[in-house]
Amino acid sequence: MPAALALDLDDTLIDTFPVLHDFIEARLGARGPGDLLAAYELSHDPEQADALIDAFFADGVDQTIAARPGALEGCRLLRAQGFELVVVTSRKPKVAAPTLARVEALFPGLFADIRCVGHSGDKNAALADIGARLFIDDHFPHVQRAAEIGVASILFGDMPWNHGKDWPNRALDWDALLAAIARLA
Ligand SMILES: [Mg+2]
Repeated sequence: MPAALALDLDDTLIDTFPVLHDFIEARLGARGPGDLLAAYELSHDPEQADALIDAFFADGVDQTIAARPGALEGCRLLRAQGFELVVVTSRKPKVAAPTLARVEALFPGLFADIRCVGHSGDKNAALADIGARLFIDDHFPHVQRAAEIGVASILFGDMPWNHGKDWPNRALDWDALLAAIARLA
C-alpha cells in the first residue's frame, strides 16, 4: 500500500487567508485587528465569524483562491514518488462540495480523498483512519496533536499564527516542505 500523506488545505495547499481577509474588509469596511490575525480568528464574535465564512462560500469567493507557490508542482512530484495524498481540513462538511471542486480545479486528479472534519472536529481521527505516514499543517495545535498519536508532523509556512512556535519539523515554503518530507516519510 502506498504511504499516505495528509495535508491541510487552507494556507498549506492554497492561499486562503489573503482572499478571506480581502473579503472581510469589503464586507466590514476594515481588516480584522492584528490580535485576531495572529490567532487566525475572523471576529471577536463567533456568530459573526460563522456568518462571514458562510457568506464567503455563498458568494463563491472560495473558488477564486489560488494554489500556494510550488504546491501544484510539489503534489505532482509526491504522487510520482508513489505517495497517496489526502486533504484533511477543518472546513465544515457542509462545504465539502465546493471544497472538492476547488481542489480538483487546482490539483486535478492528485488527491485520493478530502476529509472535512469541521472547525471543532478532530483531525487525529481522520489521520488514524487514513493511516497517515506524515501530516502537514500551518496550525500549531493540529501539528502538535498529530504527534501525540505518533503521526510525524510538519509545521508549514511563515504565518502570523505560527510565528514563534517551537517545533522540530518546520518548512517555510513548498521547497523546504519537499525536503522535509523526503527526510521524514
Ligand atoms: Mg490551514
